Amino acid sequence: MSTEASGTHVVVIGAGPGGYPAAFHAADLGLQVTLIDGEANPGGVCLYRGCIPSKTLLHASAFINEAREMAEWGITVSEPKIDLDKLRASKEGVIAKLTGGLGQLSKQRKITYVRGRATFKDATSVTVAKPDGTEEVISFDAAIIATGSQPIHLPFAPECDRVMDSSTALDLVDIPASLLLVGGGYIGLELGQVYASLGSRVSVVEMTAALLPGADAALVRPLAARLKKQFEAIHLETRVTSMKESKKGIVVQFSGKHEGEATFDKVLVAVGRRPSTEGLALEHVGVTLDEKGFIQVDAQRRTSVPTIYAVGDVAGQPMLAHKATHEGKVAAEAIAGRKTIYDPKAIPGVVFTDPEIAWCGITEAEAKAAGRDVKVTSFPWAASGRATTLGRSDGVTRLIVDPADHNRILGVGIAGPGAGELIAEGTLAIEMGAVAEDLAWTIHPHPTLSETLMEAAESAMGHSTHYAR
Ligand code: FAD
Ligand code: NAD
Repeated sequence: MSTEASGTHVVVIGAGPGGYPAAFHAADLGLQVTLIDGEANPGGVCLYRGCIPSKTLLHASAFINEAREMAEWGITVSEPKIDLDKLRASKEGVIAKLTGGLGQLSKQRKITYVRGRATFKDATSVTVAKPDGTEEVISFDAAIIATGSQPIHLPFAPECDRVMDSSTALDLVDIPASLLLVGGGYIGLELGQVYASLGSRVSVVEMTAALLPGADAALVRPLAARLKKQFEAIHLETRVTSMKESKKGIVVQFSGKHEGEATFDKVLVAVGRRPSTEGLALEHVGVTLDEKGFIQVDAQRRTSVPTIYAVGDVAGQPMLAHKATHEGKVAAEAIAGRKTIYDPKAIPGVVFTDPEIAWCGITEAEAKAAGRDVKVTSFPWAASGRATTLGRSDGVTRLIVDPADHNRILGVGIAGPGAGELIAEGTLAIEMGAVAEDLAWTIHPHPTLSETLMEAAESAMGHSTHYAR
């Protein structure tokens, strides 16, 4: 452990996956740290209202679906009975366990944890409004803003229990008979699958021409095929233009490719998130924002004010927990006086639907838009022994390589169960500057889904053992 900058006092505002790793790393580097957040323990959106509760519910959802599908294998189980109170309690238990653990880790590092809302007083101090109504002024040598993001609301959506955002959807108050998802992105599709498996009739409306518009079409295809069976309707190139509450539910007007009106028990609005900067009084200190409202930062995550850094969702896309954590550690190192830079070659994105969709590096669409001459190779999971033993030949593993540079790996995309775990190999390959040959000649365990990466790499070299074009 280093003590190179001991005595430096760092204030971290927001204890999500950007803020708490920044605080922990700064403490590990010998800095004196105060971590401020409204919750009793660290965790942020990710642990309290995001990644962790949604993945807990998706685990339950996967079990329900798999139990239903086992009939094809000659194993028939009775239709699962859902005890919603118990399911909700299990989810709360997971949150409590993980956030409580973070509280312990914070104490062990002798971090001062202050519960409350922080506002900048000037470039070296914040005022914290505490839950008991008192205020405390805390001075700092350096501050890290990690205040995250919040859901974007539709201006015409009525404020009522029937219109949910991701936080209220995760509360799992009931199982609506019919549910409309506005937005076919990460949140809509993940939570839509949860509600569909619990018994809701789910429809989705997406304004672009495809679900998950940031992902390559070839990856989305297997998911879209499954959703066609699980969801009641998928309306692309369609917008919701009005929502009104009636006795029977929310009356929704559509315009675009799908026109008309329909009534739903509940609606989940998941049209993106915006950075949380209000209430910080950034204007007092001169921290500048970009045109989309994100805090502008340099390669060390320093803002326009030299004593103030920003990390995570509040500091720009992609709004992902692991990107926030990486930035938090970079900011802590910079404050400790270490040579450091935020310069990832690939940030993995994972949509935890069934099948999972995961990708990193350049996408095929991005390569095309940039006019870049790339080679794309696919290994269909129908040719994978492991996928066949799992009854999941619908997946695909794809590599995007640079044919002019020894088939250097530029992007990896995977659709299929476990894609989120498999993508780590692709991310490492890109970070290490690997070429397809490196993956193809690395011995992968058999029978596993990881072999699909090896075989996609073999395809890039012109010969795959189990797939002949
Ligand atoms: P946050 O986690 O948003 O934490 C910010 C914290 O700062 C909050 O606790 C907030 O209350 C606090 N705060 C704000 N203002 C102040 C203030 N003035 N004073 C004190 N405290 C303040 N990402 C993934 O990578 N994988 C996933 O599976 C995933 N699933 C998700 C599912 C859902 C439903 C949602 C909504 C998001 C999901 N995300 C996922 C995104 C992920 O949650 C965010 O990218 C991540 O939480 C961002 O971390 P952060 O530290 O920047 O901010
Ligand atoms: P998103 O950007 O993933 O998806 C929003 C979707 O809504 C887009 O496809 C967009 O085209 C569509 N849309 C926007 N306005 C619309 C309108 N008026 N009508 C119909 N469609 C409309 O946003 P999200 O699902 O709200 O999630 C927010 C962010 O949280 C994600 O971008 C991601 O960064 C993060 N997240 C990550 C995970 C994960 O890593 N597994 C899970 C959930 C959330």
